[in-house]
Amino acid sequence: MLDVFLTIDVEIWCDGWEEIDRKFPTAFRKYIHGDTRRGAFGLPYQLDVIAGHGLHSVCFVEPLFSTRFGAAPLEEIVDLVLEREQEIQAHLHTEWVDESHMPLIENNKEKRQYLFQFNLEEQSRLIAAAIELLKHAGASEITAFRAGSFGFNADTLRALAANRIPFDCSYNFNMFGPDSGVSPGVALVEPARREGVCEYPLTVFRDGLGKIRQAQLTSCSWAEMERLLWRALHEKRKAFVILSHNFELLSPSKCSPDDVVIRRLHKLCDFLDRNRDCFRTSGFRNREAHCPIEKQPPLLKTSVATTILRLFEQTYRRRYP
Ligand SMILES: [Zn+2]
Repeated sequence: MLDVFLTIDVEIWCDGWEEIDRKFPTAFRKYIHGDTRRGAFGLPYQLDVIAGHGLHSVCFVEPLFSTRFGAAPLEEIVDLVLEREQEIQAHLHTEWVDESHMPLIENNKEKRQYLFQFNLEEQSRLIAAAIELLKHAGASEITAFRAGSFGFNADTLRALAANRIPFDCSYNFNMFGPDSGVSPGVALVEPARREGVCEYPLTVFRDGLGKIRQAQLTSCSWAEMERLLWRALHEKRKAFVILSHNFELLSPSKCSPDDVVIRRLHKLCDFLDRNRDCFRTSGFRNREAHCPIEKQPPLLKTSVATTILRLFEQTYRRRYP
């Protein structure tokens, strides 16, 4: 049995930092609800597909934006996740720190994109603030965390331990994972205990052309994802962590749905629903915080044929968005 984590990073952007108070209401509809002329394909749609198949997802919800725009939109996000019986955990984009109307930390005037740009005490305070905001909005059981843009370091894990958060999902070998200081010289592929926290790395793989890619709906074709899932099961891996976002099913302009990615989500959910004897969608609530794997296996791989098929599919997406 392989534990599959369908993780969705839930966040809002105002497409720049000018006039964000004016732009926020439209941005909220666009990013969270995914309004397009053909219907809404944002977070509620995605969660309806997952919940409709009786599957479980983990929504890493970014709450710092609410220190600028108020609690109501955050409460709306929390409600729409909880009413579909999905799980809420904490995400944190530090780009909001200097935009906040609350003094989150002392040095809050400069914009810093990544959590690793803050010292241990600042990280600890920001994580505590995120947990508190989510709790006030109705998400009471926060046991896991993911840093915005995977921009974490070893201090992040220490800050999580200080805040009694037992799980982290910020390690991405394709981004800052190798430079995070969390696992020097060894790629984290499976859950591992580091700095008192259980790290669940994002699943990445080497494609048929040798490029490292992440298990994400917009980054790999369904054929690739299916092969990787079977391979991970065959190799008796412990966890398979898939990444999505609230706006994952939209085109890059966020104005129209991306039919290719929508089909991938449906195929993934059909597959996980059909193969419950092999794959179990899981979360971090009520999970025992122990990581038995000491030796890390190599990265998963896909074949040249599946990579070429994906390149055709990606070209189609770009040509017919
Ligand atoms: Zn994010």
